[in-house]
Amino acid sequence: MTIIDGKTIARSIREDAKKRTETLRTQGVVPCLAVILAGDDPASVSYVTGKEKALAEAGMASRDIRVNADISEAELLSLIAALNEDAAVHGILVQLPLPKHIREDRVIDAVSPQKDVDGFHPASVGNMVLGRDGFLPCTPNGIVRLLRTLAVPVCGAHAVIVGRSNLVGRPLSILLTRKDVNATVTVCHTGTPDLAYHTRQADILIAAAGKAGLIAGDMVKEGAVVIDVGVNRVSDIAAKKGYRLRGDVDFEAVSRKASFITPVPGGVGPMTIAMLLLNVVRAAEKTRDA
Ligand code: NAP
Repeated sequence: MTIIDGKTIARSIREDAKKRTETLRTQGVVPCLAVILAGDDPASVSYVTGKEKALAEAGMASRDIRVNADISEAELLSLIAALNEDAAVHGILVQLPLPKHIREDRVIDAVSPQKDVDGFHPASVGNMVLGRDGFLPCTPNGIVRLLRTLAVPVCGAHAVIVGRSNLVGRPLSILLTRKDVNATVTVCHTGTPDLAYHTRQADILIAAAGKAGLIAGDMVKEGAVVIDVGVNRVSDIAAKKGYRLRGDVDFEAVSRKASFITPVPGGVGPMTIAMLLLNVVRAAEKTRDA
């Protein structure tokens, strides 16, 4: 069994982003991502901090825009409209989830598809479905990249995804069925009557449910490749922060059966950030080439 080192794989992608950034800088373009965070949810603050640190390490700029959780939807939309017009900003990321009174769809739709480095805009999703050029969502794209880097057989494999969110499960199902990837995909969700029946058939099992330890050892086929997307905070009085991060997979039990498995943290998470950097650098290259 191999524990997949997402950090190391992500590092080489980040190096690539850094080199391309250096080239852009010599051409007078500094890739810049505007990051909007509404409120001070601790998990969101830590995600935003991690992304901005990675941008800085790759030589890119970031605009850190923090607004109060009570910002109105109209104010947030006009902030995004201004960033759409700002030529120095190549990408716009609005950290989700948003405060309850703000309609997420409205915000996603407001970001220009040219700056939609999260790949959430309906135009980006449409391009992904049709196999056209556009920004791909970072976590699903990072998972496909991870599988390709490991050189595990994906073509012809049966991939079972647990979760159908717009963020992870659904876009991943689309990317895995693209002809150049060629997996056969089953997507499970809370309406799936016998989850274990499906997960046991997976050559590649991807857990993206947001339920700590959902995937038990007896739900996995011997030799399966297991990708754990889940990031769940479970309370742990022994831990410094009072909690620890757990994936959707019972790592101890499943690692005894899997051929490859991602840890949490250190598996999919670093890939998500690396793919974001690639999207930002690409957005900047597009403006250079326009
Ligand atoms: P989400 O929007 O809550 O979606 C969860 C999906 O899992 C839903 O489709 C839900 O089904 C399904 N599900 C939940 N419990 C299930 C169960 N018992 N059996 C079968 N299906 C079940 O979550 P998300 O945004 O996709 O995120 C999923 C997890 O990935 C979270 O832990 C999140 O923190 C993590 N995540 C990690 C990264 C990273 O970079 N590492 C990035 C994004 C997300 P229904 O549709 O029927 O409700």
